[in-house]
Amino acid sequence: YYQPKLCLATGRLNAAEALVRWDHPTMGRVPPAEFIGLAEETGLIGPVGEWVLTQACIQAQQWHDDGHGTLTMAVNISGRQIHLADLCETVRLALTSSGLRPDCLELELTESQLMKDAEGIIVLLKRLKAMGVRLSVDDFGTGYSSLAYLKRFPIDCLKVDQAFVRDIIADANDVSITRAISTLAHNLKLKVVAEGVETEGQLGLLSANHCDE
Ligand code: MN
Repeated sequence: YYQPKLCLATGRLNAAEALVRWDHPTMGRVPPAEFIGLAEETGLIGPVGEWVLTQACIQAQQWHDDGHGTLTMAVNISGRQIHLADLCETVRLALTSSGLRPDCLELELTESQLMKDAEGIIVLLKRLKAMGVRLSVDDFGTGYSSLAYLKRFPIDCLKVDQAFVRDIIADANDVSITRAISTLAHNLKLKVVAEGVETEGQLGLLSANHCDE
């Protein structure tokens, strides 16, 4: 499933985020909260993650071929995936088999994954960056961030966790936090993306507080 990312400056849809869902023959739609954890525990996140990455790259290239040549595809990477296989090799294969330009692929890693083994992650992120792919910090603001590391990660984007977006209309604190994250990100030359925007009211507030997408 693909969730659109809208550029607030132009009003154009400029990217999508790939989200895996499981349609089970008898259980119906199994939410990711129920199967991703299990896939990580069993190691199945390896093949599942590879499949998602490859399918997302193929879809993005298809959209490029259909005339949407600047569309970027974001794919979530599980922390466990990093340790199961060489992520750079997996990414290289997905790009080669789909023909997608590396700068049109964005990998999302959560704040907590990045901070778990920050020194090791910096090495990995630098290798990925050298391949030309874009990198973003997912669920920003809910984990345990070290600002000292944040400035050392070769990242392109911060994604404001949807916990701050959900009640942004009613909660002035959420507005303040979102504005603070935007200011921090822009000063670090990073883009700011808000997750889970469902209403025009939320969109208006996020736009007024300098979110980019
Ligand atoms: Mn994400």
